[in-house]
Amino acid sequence: MADDSGRGTAAARRGAEAVRSAGSSLTTERGWEYAPAPESREIVSIADEYGLFVNGEFGPAMNGATFPTINPATEEPLARVALAGPADVDRAVAVARTAYERVWGPMPGSERAKYLYRIARILQERSREFAVLESIDNGKPIKETRDVDIPLAAAHFFYYAGWADKLEYAGFGPAPRPIGVAGQVIPWNFPLLMAAWKLAPALAAGNTCVLKPAETTPLSALLLAEVCQQAELPPGVVNVLTGAGEVGAAVVAHPGVHKVAFTGSTEVGIAIAEAIAGSGKKLTLELGGKAANVVFDDAPVDQAIEGIVNGIFFNQGHVCCAGSRLLVQESVAEHVVDRLRQRLATLRLGDPLDKNTDIGAINSRQQLDKITELSAAGEAEGARRWSPPCELPKKGFWFAPTVFTGVSQSHRIAREEIFGPVLSVLTFRTPDEAVTKANNTQYGLSAGVWTEKGSRILWMAQKMRAGVVWANTYNRFDPASPFGGYRESGFGREGGRHGLAAYLDV
Ligand code: NDP
Repeated sequence: MADDSGRGTAAARRGAEAVRSAGSSLTTERGWEYAPAPESREIVSIADEYGLFVNGEFGPAMNGATFPTINPATEEPLARVALAGPADVDRAVAVARTAYERVWGPMPGSERAKYLYRIARILQERSREFAVLESIDNGKPIKETRDVDIPLAAAHFFYYAGWADKLEYAGFGPAPRPIGVAGQVIPWNFPLLMAAWKLAPALAAGNTCVLKPAETTPLSALLLAEVCQQAELPPGVVNVLTGAGEVGAAVVAHPGVHKVAFTGSTEVGIAIAEAIAGSGKKLTLELGGKAANVVFDDAPVDQAIEGIVNGIFFNQGHVCCAGSRLLVQESVAEHVVDRLRQRLATLRLGDPLDKNTDIGAINSRQQLDKITELSAAGEAEGARRWSPPCELPKKGFWFAPTVFTGVSQSHRIAREEIFGPVLSVLTFRTPDEAVTKANNTQYGLSAGVWTEKGSRILWMAQKMRAGVVWANTYNRFDPASPFGGYRESGFGREGGRHGLAAYLDV
């Protein structure tokens, strides 16, 4: 690992000293530590090899190719997974088409709903298994997979099951029709949840799906495929093709796919938009972000600190809507940053399966390198770097929670999506300046406002160019609420009634 990752580095030592000199290390004050509380791995049995899920069955790729998936917290190999080739993509799209024309498309919505409800219930029944598997394959803390990812994934299936027989009342005309086969490509930051975001509305609307999970996190999508079998979903309605970016590119470009849904980087989103331009395919893109979390001087500081921490350190900052730019009113900036440092000193980083862990592993070496490189650029450009005292595990991919102060708008760490546990702090004096700075980004996915004044919340929400604005909270998700961005954060909405539009011929 590179030196500036925080593992016993100068930055970490400086952080330790800062906390000590402020007399604010709660770990020290507390004088005791949490005993390990590991969740058992026993509930999950990980196979040595996994196949593609096509036409309701698991099987190897036609050319027999496989790739490994590892535990990013330990670098331990977990399994080998089938690597789909062009022939597998052809087959998956063909069976999805057949299932669409013969079974799923003509099926009454009330019948489709029963399958979705069944999937939702099985997800709940097997939630511990999913939570453990997701933590192992992704590196995120078990308390997040257990309390956020898995319940929300089930909630999406429940929510869209409710719409399946009510599409004519969704506001898209008296008889909205599905589109056909949906090609869906998802990232590694919320593997199961993103699969649910994609599959649930598509299926409710009567489409069939070919889903491509991220190369580094294929296992929960494959377990979801097993759930589809268990729910006796008709063969071909959901197909899961594992592999790298080329598989995603082949799925979206396939002439048999009529709807493309993508979540991931802006760069790949642009490549997909170019690849399918002129094809008539319907496209939704949910891309990156560089959200402003704006704290005014009248904000309730305790809550704001929790919101800032949740905004950027939840899921190691691997969140497209992360509050990665903290804009804090100058008059309270010093106080807020001091309090934030005290709070960060209490976060526990380590074993993702430990129920006390707040910050888990970075998902891949590639992502760790990116975070490391951008953080180094922050220091080189003159921002002040701080991390709490934090011992990083010897194996695996880890990055200490990091706060940059003295950040200016031109710094790379204020402009580029870092997608890691790194917060850039900027200040403002007036509400107008806050709005100008918040909107000074090519992205427009989300934003947060912290203030006691309701009128200011409404004013800010109107002025900020962001698809989602949270007020006195952050990173709250609900299947009934639409989510999506402006500008380079993409277009189209997922979730809620709006999320159905992407999967209907309207
Ligand atoms: P990508 O955008 O590359 O990956 C997202 C998904 O797209 C993955 O399934 C990926 O496959 C697939 N993919 C890659 N290339 C293509 C292509 N040409 N056509 C179709 N599908 C493709 O994100 P990365 O994982 O590389 O992360 C890079 C950066 O993107 C991060 O550092 C972060 O800044 C941002 N990001 C943003 C996310 C968001 O939710 N907004 C989510 C993930 C990343 P494979 O996994 O095999 O590469």
